Amino acid sequence: MSARVMMMDEPGRVALLMGNEAIARGAIEAGVSVAAGYPGTPSSEIGDALSQVADALGFYFEWSTNEKVALEVAFGASMCNQRSIVSMKHVGLNVALDILNLISLRGVRGGLVLVSADDPSQHSSGQEQDNRWLAKMNCVPVLEPSTPQEAKEYTRYAFELSERRRTPVMVRTVTRLSHMRGKVTLGPISREKRMAEFDWEGFSYRVSGFDRLFRREKELNDKLKLIQEDFEELNLNLLKMGGDERFGFIGAGLSFNYAHDAVRRLGIEKEAAYLKLATSHPIPQRLVSRLIGGVDRLLVVEEVDPFVELHVRALAKEVNPKLEVYGRMSGHLPGEGELSPQILGEALARIFNLENPYRRRSELEERVRGTIFERMLTFCAGCPHRATIYALKSAVIKVRGDPRRVVVNGDIGCYGLAHTPPLNFEDTYFCMGASIGVSQGMRHVGVDCISLIGDGTFLHAGIPGLINSVYNQADIKVVIADNQTIAMTGFQPHAGSGKTATGKPTRRVLIEDIARACGVDQVEVVDPYNLREAEEAFIRMLESKGVSVVIARRICATEAVRMLRPRRPTPYRVDEDVCIGCRLCLNTFGCPALEWDGEKGLASVNETLCMGCGVCSQICPQGAIGRAGAV
Ligand code: SF4
Ligand code: SF4
Repeated sequence: MSARVMMMDEPGRVALLMGNEAIARGAIEAGVSVAAGYPGTPSSEIGDALSQVADALGFYFEWSTNEKVALEVAFGASMCNQRSIVSMKHVGLNVALDILNLISLRGVRGGLVLVSADDPSQHSSGQEQDNRWLAKMNCVPVLEPSTPQEAKEYTRYAFELSERRRTPVMVRTVTRLSHMRGKVTLGPISREKRMAEFDWEGFSYRVSGFDRLFRREKELNDKLKLIQEDFEELNLNLLKMGGDERFGFIGAGLSFNYAHDAVRRLGIEKEAAYLKLATSHPIPQRLVSRLIGGVDRLLVVEEVDPFVELHVRALAKEVNPKLEVYGRMSGHLPGEGELSPQILGEALARIFNLENPYRRRSELEERVRGTIFERMLTFCAGCPHRATIYALKSAVIKVRGDPRRVVVNGDIGCYGLAHTPPLNFEDTYFCMGASIGVSQGMRHVGVDCISLIGDGTFLHAGIPGLINSVYNQADIKVVIADNQTIAMTGFQPHAGSGKTATGKPTRRVLIEDIARACGVDQVEVVDPYNLREAEEAFIRMLESKGVSVVIARRICATEAVRMLRPRRPTPYRVDEDVCIGCRLCLNTFGCPALEWDGEKGLASVNETLCMGCGVCSQICPQGAIGRAGAV
């Protein structure tokens, strides 16, 4: 997507946008003043798109240090009558929850839109999580678009609703919608500039004591009733019902498309009434009742949990007690994971006793076998994390004798691939920053362990854990793999990168300064591309007493190549006259640029992939690998 499209002020023009870009465009058309977020797949492109055009369009964008801060930034702007948006992946909302509940209770002033990008089937997450529950728990209305066009329109509407009802509004997307592309008709870009002012007299943010805040629960409940009334009449919810149908389905968000497609393929369109549900919380009960009161059988289609299904089942008890409800809870749809037209085809074929019109996934996989290159899960060529893990593992073997005598508690980021072959040197990972906390629990019961955490993750959620280890005298060893960017989600900068989200130079927050300020006495910074230097630092860390931190700093290899363009680093080569084919470089280090020439029985370097890091040359005991031109 080009920034040009994002800035195009030509209403009626059609653009091909990703779902995430469409959300960003919706915010721009709504006249957003402040946008913040924390990168995390599948949400990152929302911030990427906004960061490219923020300066040119005159709004503020930042990548915040974590999702809670991002939401607070958005709320601060909202309190001063500015429209604000905050985006995050589903688990990011767990971090932001503390303030979300208070925002709901206090209410907003400028429209505040919270985008939650959920990840059914956890394509790039530690777990599945359906954030509609969190929205309900915090009295936040939820809109669920099903196409990029809707993603844009619903975002715009979310700002209006938020402002009218003075509540934060969630736009919930899922991975497939976030990353699909579709035609989007652009609308006008709002140029409205509001005066930013805190409402000293008439509003509800000022410190007011618990009693008054408690009373806001009733206001909040009343507000939700009004929003429910809004949703009953909202034209984004589409009820298609002729009156003769005995079967109906309700589809929320993207899942509607799967059911609609399957109904069409099965040729049962005329027999099926449906409700395309855009507003999954609060449920428009009268609208739903019209459908469930008029049919005998109903299928509820949604991702991930039976959130709407549960409400529909409760409602059916009053409206149509004989209604047969199918969905996740009945077993007609799987209890977990994302849906697909195939899954819906199977479910509907079962309900209507028909043949499933779709090919099975296994058949499709069979058809493409051989045409798709199978790629092993591994670090990129030249990745400094591979060198860090290699040196760390060597140090543990030297000091402890056996790598399995130490539990390696990993964290969320590229270095989480430390568990993959051939390094196989990571035992746990959970959520942002957890590596430091769980290591402390292990150390207090006498289990030897190392925390392995990245730079972005440390800044996001690792610092309180490190302070805790110093304060509570937990003898932990922390390795911070600092590649100076949030590489995993698309190379977004962070506080340690020295530039802002919009590319402006800024003061670099140094991790070693933070570690020392937390009270850690033993802090070292090493370059992982220098294996000996890194290994020696890790040995000192392992032999030390008390909290010890080693920062392995080297810019992400892919980011380094991006910065070097159009030049490329000089690749390395294997000298065929020196290589003895021992495979040590492949079997212990495993850079994907290293290949095995079966005919010659020798290692070789794929010069197209090689990033020229030179680490493999330090591993080869024969000295067979050198920079191209030198061998
Ligand atoms: S120099 Fe060696 S380790 Fe580095 S990218 Fe090239 S092949 Fe891989
Ligand atoms: S390059 Fe070196 S480590 Fe790799 S197979 Fe040849 S001799 Fe062994």
